[in-house]
Order: sequence, then C-alpha cells, then structure tokens
Amino acid sequence: MSIFYKEPIFRPPSEANSLLIHATLGCQYDCSFCGMYISKRFQVRPVHETLKDLDEAKKTYGENVRRIFLMDGNAFVCHPKVLNKIAVHAQKLFPNLNRISSYAHASDVLRRSPKDLKTLSDNKLNMVYLGIETGDDALINSINKKSSKSELIEAAQKLHESDIKMSGTIMLGLAGNDPKKSFQHAKETADLINKMKPKTKKPWYISALTTMLVPNTPLHEDSDFKLQDTMGILQELKTLFMFLNDDLHGLIFRSNHASNYLNLQSNDLSKNKNELLAQIDYALDHPEVLKAEWMRGL
Ligand code: SF4
Repeated sequence: MSIFYKEPIFRPPSEANSLLIHATLGCQYDCSFCGMYISKRFQVRPVHETLKDLDEAKKTYGENVRRIFLMDGNAFVCHPKVLNKIAVHAQKLFPNLNRISSYAHASDVLRRSPKDLKTLSDNKLNMVYLGIETGDDALINSINKKSSKSELIEAAQKLHESDIKMSGTIMLGLAGNDPKKSFQHAKETADLINKMKPKTKKPWYISALTTMLVPNTPLHEDSDFKLQDTMGILQELKTLFMFLNDDLHGLIFRSNHASNYLNLQSNDLSKNKNELLAQIDYALDHPEVLKAEWMRGL
C-alpha cells in the first residue's frame, strides 16, 4: 500500500515540506482563469480512505510530520465532522504536528458556524488558503468566482475570530490590459484587504500571483481578453500598495509565486509598506531586475 495521489498535484509554495493528503479530488468551482483541476471530476473522498493514507504516511515518515496540507481545490468544503475526524486522527499519529491546512472558497467558510471553525482550529486545522483573486465585484462575476467582495471580507473575519490563519491569494493582471479595469481591480482589491484586517493583531497573509493564460480555460478562449504587459502589472501592484492602509497590523505580504515578475516580501506590511513601494518604483525604472518571461510558471 502507498499513499493515494491523483495527478496533477498542487500546493501553495509554503507547503513545500508538508505531507500532502487528498481529502477531495478536483475542485467544485470553475473559475475562468484556472486550469488546475480541469482534468479531475470533483469528489469528496470517503473519510476512511483519507485516514488510511494518514496511516500509510505514518509508516513512511514516523513522527516527523509537522504539517499536513489537505488537497485538492477546496478541501475545506468537507463537513466539519469529516475534517475533525481527519485532524484528530492525524494528531494521534503525529505528536509533533503543528498545522493542518487546505484551500478554501469563501462559501466553505461562511456556511460553518463560529463554533465549528473554532473546533477545527483547536484540532490544528489552523490555516486556510482563501482564493480572493480580486475585490472588484464586476471582475469577480466575469471570472465566475462565485464569492462577492462582502462575502470574502466576512469569511476573512470569521477565520480571524476562530484563530484559523487566513492566507489570501490575489491575482495581478486579472482585469487584462484595459487601464481603467486594471486600476479598478487594484483599488477594489486594496479596499477589500483593508477591510480584512483582523480586529486584534495577529498574523494574516496576502500573496499575489500574476495571471497567465492556461490552455483550455474560458479565459484562454476569450478573444476579448488581452494579457496585461509587465509594466502594466507593476503599475497595478503600485496602485494596490498606494490604496492599502498603513495600519494593516500583522499582514505578511508575499509575491514569491513563480508567476510573478517581482518578488516582494514583508513580515509586517504596517512597518515597511514604503520600502516595498520603493522596490516597485525601482523595478519600473529598471525592468532588467524583473524575472524573465521564460522563468515564470504556475
Ligand atoms: S481558482 Fe480555486 S476555486 Fe477557482 S477553480 Fe481554481 S481551484 Fe477552484
């Protein structure tokens, strides 16, 4: 026996050293830009299969497992009873476990009670990667994201309150190369991030990706959509930063995903937003510091 994996496998960059386990296959959504799971039919796995995979992992890795990432697309859709069963079993097997995480859609968070979320957090399912993409409701509709700006803000606040760390991803370039749409996307996304700020200081994460066209996706087939160029992406990032509040305490910002042209990192954006803005300005004047097109990927 070995752990079951159905390719292709995706995980956030920060889960590089995590044990990867399927709780679901595929994703139940079909955002227009995303080709991650188009080859898989969405299914929630029977929980006994996921538990069996954890048992297999114990045979291979012993007690070395500290982090588990539950796949695929929106594994947080599983009923809290199922997620708790997985989390409790994992804690028994791996005494050094300190984090279980998964991708989540805002609706997966909103349909759960604060009590259910707190129990998950207490059982170490204490981090979710929330697909934000944009704060612009018109753009949200056009990419078929199925979560409004206000729902995304509410989901983030619910996660903060239950002590589940939120790592949100935004997509630069999602509005294409129309300067007005790009500006609106950046401004509304900054406004959304400002409103996601936790009421009390705690770590929360925003990561930026840059849109790339993936074959066989609706966005790829959309002849009206024109990719934003490199300087346009940087300008969008600058606009985003200019509209971000200065007091976003605890916000850890990253643009270290392979799709980005410029790698920015801040462990508390309330302390060094201007430094990052200066890095963007420098890159606008010195495009030679940007990642080459051939080095980018999703
Ligand atoms: S972006 Fe996320 S929610 Fe949308 S289809 Fe892809 S994996 Fe699913």
